[in-house]
Amino acid sequence: MEDYSLPELPYGYGELEPYMSEEQLRVHHDKHHKAYVDGANAIIKKLADARKSGEMPDMKSALKSLSWNVGGHVLHSLFWKNLAPKGGKMGGALAEAIKKEFGSEERFKAEFNETAKSIEGSGWAALAFCRKSKRMFLMQIEKHNTNMYPGFEIIMVLDMFEHAYYIDHRNDKAKFIENFWKIVNWEEVGRRFEG
Ligand code: MN
Repeated sequence: MEDYSLPELPYGYGELEPYMSEEQLRVHHDKHHKAYVDGANAIIKKLADARKSGEMPDMKSALKSLSWNVGGHVLHSLFWKNLAPKGGKMGGALAEAIKKEFGSEERFKAEFNETAKSIEGSGWAALAFCRKSKRMFLMQIEKHNTNMYPGFEIIMVLDMFEHAYYIDHRNDKAKFIENFWKIVNWEEVGRRFEG
């Protein structure tokens, strides 16, 4: 058993420029993501301490907070990996599956954009895969943990919390999403799909 830890980025902080600034990425990774890691570890410790002392914590409150923090950590860890300085192109089995499900890459992107833009409050747009039906699904995750399909594999995520874009784009969500498509690591997304 071990604590959660903040993963290093698979690229330099300035390498996603001009699509995502070094300042934006530093604050996002070093402050926001780290806060979820620290938050998750703190609650796990609190639960472990309570088991030792025999007291019963407020489980509803502890688990709600644990879900928020673990969800934040897991989704951010996915998000960093599905970005890359040179995005490349969607290909292989992933491109075929997307075409089969959505009709075309353009339609998939349009639906994904709408999913991202219309999130109520803070959340994530995600592409997910259901092993049972072998279908691709769009997922509009509110916060880090609401509206999720249990057990589906998450293939690609886009962070739509304001903290992901306020330094670079203020309130211009559309510009943030447009820039996201320039730095999608299609190789990694394809690998996740095939895995
Ligand atoms: Mn974030």
